[in-house]
Amino acid sequence: MTLLEQTEKTMITDIRERAFIFSPDGNTILFNKEDYEGVQKILFSEEERKLCEGNVLTHSHPNTEFAFRTFTNFDINTFFSCKLREIRLVRGPIVLSLIHKGSCNHYPILPELNKFMEKKGVSESSMDEFLRSFPCLSLTSQSIEKK
Ligand SMILES: [Zn+2]
Repeated sequence: MTLLEQTEKTMITDIRERAFIFSPDGNTILFNKEDYEGVQKILFSEEERKLCEGNVLTHSHPNTEFAFRTFTNFDINTFFSCKLREIRLVRGPIVLSLIHKGSCNHYPILPELNKFMEKKGVSESSMDEFLRSFPCLSLTSQSIEKK
């Protein structure tokens, strides 16, 4: 089991949102952050954004009434603008993974994403469907092993 997988196990019961940036092999933590009380959004400095490039970000959406079960537009914006290799979301015992397969220029997705999010009533399932419509992206979910 990688350090990434071990860390995600500890995130299942997060009360505050946490984020960890890992090396692509999942065995080195480059840095980590948590949200400020009551604000479920983690902001990165310019330096931290540079550290994200080509690496893996995992984060939690604590189990509150208003928590988004899938990636938010903020998450997806971070994914593209920080040039992450992979973004992961721990939501209860499920981990969602969005990987850029690297075979295309994915940046044009940002304006499309913004247009998509402006539409009223964007549901969590339509967000997943939107992400799956890009062949350069791979969206998967799996349950976190308890052992
Ligand atoms: Zn998020």
